[in-house]
Amino acid sequence: MNKAIPMQTLPQIQHLIGGQLVAGGSRSQEVFNPATGMAEKRVLLADKLTVEQAIANAHAAYPAWRATPPLKRARVMSTLKVLLEANAERICALVTAEHGKVLADSLGELQRGIENVEYASYAPELLKGEHSKNVGPSMDSWSEFQALGVTAGITPFNFPVMVPLWMWPMAIACGNTFVLKPSERDPSSALLVAQLALDAGLPPGVLNVVNGDKEAVDTLLADKRVQAISFVGSTPIAQYIYATGCANGKRVQALGGAKNHAVVMPDADVPNAVSALMGAAYGSCGERCMAIPLVVAVGDATADAVVAGLKVEIAKMKVGPGTDASNDMGPLVTQAHFEKVKGYVDQGVLEGATLVVDGRNVKVSGHESGYFLGACLFDNVKPGMKIYQEEIFGPVLGVMRVKTLQEAMDLIDAHEYGNGTCIFTRDGEAARYFSDNILVGMVGINVPLPVPVAYHSFGGWKRSLFGDLHGYGPDAVRFYTKRKTITQRWPSAGVREGALFSFPTNR
Ligand code: NAD
Repeated sequence: MNKAIPMQTLPQIQHLIGGQLVAGGSRSQEVFNPATGMAEKRVLLADKLTVEQAIANAHAAYPAWRATPPLKRARVMSTLKVLLEANAERICALVTAEHGKVLADSLGELQRGIENVEYASYAPELLKGEHSKNVGPSMDSWSEFQALGVTAGITPFNFPVMVPLWMWPMAIACGNTFVLKPSERDPSSALLVAQLALDAGLPPGVLNVVNGDKEAVDTLLADKRVQAISFVGSTPIAQYIYATGCANGKRVQALGGAKNHAVVMPDADVPNAVSALMGAAYGSCGERCMAIPLVVAVGDATADAVVAGLKVEIAKMKVGPGTDASNDMGPLVTQAHFEKVKGYVDQGVLEGATLVVDGRNVKVSGHESGYFLGACLFDNVKPGMKIYQEEIFGPVLGVMRVKTLQEAMDLIDAHEYGNGTCIFTRDGEAARYFSDNILVGMVGINVPLPVPVAYHSFGGWKRSLFGDLHGYGPDAVRFYTKRKTITQRWPSAGVREGALFSFPTNR
């Protein structure tokens, strides 16, 4: 199905090290356009030496960058924001060509990324320390937040431009230098954004991009110069990154997979809930960690109404290449992922769930080799089923039927993931009880995708996040800095003091 073009005819995606695009590593892999199934580029896969060169550049750039006044660092972010807005079409064309999502969705993810750059431009305010006068006789104390040194980020395929922008703008605005390892499946947009950061005035070496796979990641995990690692991706890899990074003495935050439930209460505005669920389940082909792949309907009448509404709306959906603005949903990212998601639909049928809408045979005229799967809808999904337990990461929505809100909450709490959830209701008491008690990190009340804005922080609970601090927002300032507390005393000249052998206090 994949029509690979001979290697030499494909444009090559390189690394950005020390402000230069460079080759490095003898291995490479094809980058496909998922709408056509054609290999259009080839990405170089960095070897250990190449990654070490990137780390060395980041290490060399650190002292001068750390000493640069925070306001000057922040101005680079302000300029970058303008450049990102001016180049939005170029960046989003790359996202759609390599990821497959529709252009409007690419623009949405870029905009969310830009908001992180905007927040990073407030770093001088956010880095202000804490000061206390007269903590003892003639004694003052303050805490300041110092940069860590070389920091690194490893990012997933599904938000190729936004997730890198969750990480390095704040890391860099706080005075660190950075090595980014984007997803090898759709690496071009992150590389272009990094080049724009150079145009915005970032000194060479402050931000480096290495393309690659496990070899590159393992080099970042092992190198002593790397002080901290931010990871976003699937849970098994997140756990590996967290365990290995921590064992090597690094600070690590590793955001993992998800299986987000939406509860629909009997009093919900069902037509509006259905509209919200359509976007949350099928937007970006379900390849979002905050997507809603499960609806838990309270009461059979609620479930019947939701399933009927979804069926009508799915029939109106348009599936096709992301470059056509009339399409609602593009292809899945790769042939392998297409096969995996389709396999889950087969599995759901075998497990006895009711397949209400079958998207497995969708064909897009003129794009017969693209990785298109139509929207799929299951009813009567049960907790023991694989399609309930595992993250599918595709356009597959399952409806579950329960009798009470408590039953819905028990289900959600027992699930291994705790990234996001939402409830549709008009009952404030039920909504408050739900948000107070549910074991999930991000909660929506009549909001299907409760993705925090850039000045809050993003993160799940349970096996959706390894580490103590969430991504971006205020937590990122803490993640990319370490606290130092200084206590100083200037006693009056000429006053003689005896030795104090008891522990100093204010008693
Ligand atoms: P992935 O885990 O396959 O890859 C993520 C990164 O890890 C990539 O850069 C990849 O090169 C690297 N990697 C892959 N295998 C590795 C290995 N064996 N050793 C070292 N590094 C390795 O994830 P993906 O398929 O690119 O992205 C989808 C996943 O990311 C989903 O599970 C989704 O839920 C999750 N995700 C989570 C969040 C969040 O904030 N919690 C956000 C976006 C995506």
